[in-house]
Amino acid sequence: MPLILTTVPCLEDNYAFIIANPETGEAAVVDVPEAAPINAAIKAGGWRLTTVLLTHHHWDHVDGLNGLDNRSALKIIGAKRDARRLPALDHAVSEGDTITVCGHDADILDVSGHTINHIAFHFASEKLAFTADSLMALGCGRLSEGTHAQAWTSLKKIRALPRDTLICSGHEYTQANARFAQTLDPHNSELISRVQAVDAARAAGQPTVPSTLDLEMRTNPFLRADAPDLMAHLGMTDADPADVFAEIRTRKDRF
Ligand code: ZN
Ligand code: FE
Repeated sequence: MPLILTTVPCLEDNYAFIIANPETGEAAVVDVPEAAPINAAIKAGGWRLTTVLLTHHHWDHVDGLNGLDNRSALKIIGAKRDARRLPALDHAVSEGDTITVCGHDADILDVSGHTINHIAFHFASEKLAFTADSLMALGCGRLSEGTHAQAWTSLKKIRALPRDTLICSGHEYTQANARFAQTLDPHNSELISRVQAVDAARAAGQPTVPSTLDLEMRTNPFLRADAPDLMAHLGMTDADPADVFAEIRTRKDRF
């Protein structure tokens, strides 16, 4: 039976995600921006929270941990290479590891860039990828630590996942990302219709996350750094795609 995914808005514009196994009642949460909305969602679902998956060390992804109900019984899983700056881990993982969460396997990807040692959790059988601030809806996280080359390598790893994978990312930044994307890709008809859908969703108070990898690959400029039309628009037709990515990221930082 498939996992049940719940998107939990937290703080101003963060998302946590609960995955729950309807047969066993077990649940896990990906990132803990704040405890109260997660505790409430677990209670509302009638789940038993057993596991916390941490994508990276930033406060807006970990600070709610100690406020979770039943905190001492929770198994905390995060990147081995970042163990020194993450909350104490019960299971430290590295790229290539496979873990079992709520009865389903998840592969660990290193998606350094936004931070070094940021990880993503890919549940292949569930077609779910938890990318937090590495790949976002219509955007990618600011590079607070990693290099452009590192971030581009990370995005290519995510891009290699099956296209029907649901990208569960960490923030509601989609409208601002959309305005920027349109400056680079003004004639992309799929982007134009996505922006309309995003604006309508936000006007109705709905989240725009998660999104499919397929839609991101067709509309997210950061995943399109090697697309001939985008390269031409930037006057970088013969450039290395990593340099095109760097140009796009630099423009976004100034936008
Ligand atoms: Zn972050
Ligand atoms: Fe964040």
